[in-house]
Amino acid sequence: MRLVTLDTGSKANGYILTNGSEALIIEAGVKAIEAKKALGFRTSIIQGCIISHSHADHSRYGVDYARAGIDVFAPVDVFKIPHNRNRPVMPHKKYKAGGFTFMPFDVPHDVVTYGYIIEHQDCGKVLFMTDTYLCEYKLPKVDHLLIEANYDYNILDHCIEEGDTHPAMKDRLMTSHMEIGTTITYCTELKPRTVVLIHLSDGHSNEEDFIDRVTGATGAKVVAAKKGLEIYLDEL
Ligand SMILES: [Zn+2]
Repeated sequence: MRLVTLDTGSKANGYILTNGSEALIIEAGVKAIEAKKALGFRTSIIQGCIISHSHADHSRYGVDYARAGIDVFAPVDVFKIPHNRNRPVMPHKKYKAGGFTFMPFDVPHDVVTYGYIIEHQDCGKVLFMTDTYLCEYKLPKVDHLLIEANYDYNILDHCIEEGDTHPAMKDRLMTSHMEIGTTITYCTELKPRTVVLIHLSDGHSNEEDFIDRVTGATGAKVVAAKKGLEIYLDEL
């Protein structure tokens, strides 16, 4: 299974899981045309698009995917414009899109936000979790983990001391985004073979250090997502 990062971070998020004959889009922060381009314009292989929450960097182009004839699965408040491709989802219920099955679970953020446990016979279990600071549920062991590694407390504190970051930012981040220490805890508990770190903050993260720390704690193959990155989940 190939994972394509269309974009990641606070401006836009979009990822594709594809085995060549089926594809699942994760997040709609990037135009549908970019997803189609990444798939060689084989639009018919797209089984659906799943969205975590209503913030624009994750959902801005949801209606763009719906208008392209793609089922869009998301928390109900994401759907601002009615469309017959809108598929509101509920946490802890299972859904199917082609060979992909997925189950949303709710996580704390400043709007309704779902992580997803995605399964496909070609990659096993993939857990996707972003824009939260913790998960209140016990999560299952997974094969691959796509998880936010937004910031590092030390870097954040340093930026506040230097006056580069407003002190109020810390309160918001601590209750809405994932600190690398928390990310590492999940990476250790869920025992994935592959970890893809996503949604790294521009100013409050250190990609190399994050990769080293997660690798050291887990022994998993670890990469940091960036625009245009393509990896094979089982062939890292
Ligand atoms: Zn958000």
